[in-house]
Amino acid sequence: MAGLLAGHIAAVTGGGSGIGQGICQAYAREGARVVVLDVNLEGANETIGLIAAAGGKASAVALDVTDRAACKAAAADIAKGGNVSVLVNNAGINRRNPITGDPAAVAKDWDDILGINLDGVFNVTHAFLEQLRATRGRIVNIGSIQSFVHASWPNSAAYTTSKHGVLGFTRALAAELGKDGVRVNAIGPGLIETRINAAARANNPDMVAAVMRHTPLNRTGKPEDVAGPAVFLASDMSSYVTGCIIMADGGFRTL
Ligand code: NAP
Repeated sequence: MAGLLAGHIAAVTGGGSGIGQGICQAYAREGARVVVLDVNLEGANETIGLIAAAGGKASAVALDVTDRAACKAAAADIAKGGNVSVLVNNAGINRRNPITGDPAAVAKDWDDILGINLDGVFNVTHAFLEQLRATRGRIVNIGSIQSFVHASWPNSAAYTTSKHGVLGFTRALAAELGKDGVRVNAIGPGLIETRINAAARANNPDMVAAVMRHTPLNRTGKPEDVAGPAVFLASDMSSYVTGCIIMADGGFRTL
């Protein structure tokens, strides 16, 4: 299939839902062979079904990004079918609880959120590193508005910390891997309608209103609003772009 990503093999963590699913579909439309990695195999299978129905190529692999050994094993197994040249670190979770709350719950939030959102990004990137170097590949990390600010989303210290970390990791890797021709960038989505925030959108209209006050485009986003920048960053269209974050947030930080 011709397209901006023809000839690429793209691995997308958390590809079984929301933003990751949207990116998988867009990559397949652009001709990539997509490997959907998700702890939720049912979701990953749904994604490959959508891609197959549209005429694209995809496979699903059950993977918990917190399991470093499993990440290495999955990467080695996937390499038997060819080296991954595009890696999207998208898997993530969020919980919003005050840091002053029950100490055991606060510590669990910290461990779970940092474990998936930041350690997970390291685990998967490190597992695919040699494949990405061999292909002069591209890494796209999913950050957040909370890679910069916290104000509209209080009570999420662990999430804010994890997404600041994702941006730092993006810049550090861009600096270190440029000599190998590997480009490393991030995307900072705004409030995108997915499962991660379905309850917050339904139960907390004040939060949505606070975000909209900062959103010149005056609407929430959809996964496809993030998929376009993800195609750009994975393709040769961005051949001289590395170490940057593209905000897909309706203009949040302009207001
Ligand atoms: P989502 O719909 O909940 O999708 C996340 C996917 O990641 C789910 O399939 C989830 O599986 C999977 N996952 C969770 N833990 C995992 C693990 N340990 N290993 C592998 N996969 C795992 O959420 P989303 O909104 O698309 O979020 C995708 C990314 O965008 C996250 O990094 C999030 O922080 C970021 N983001 C989202 C927004 C937004 O407004 N939606 C804004 C900024 C940034 P389960 O369903 O089993 O949990």
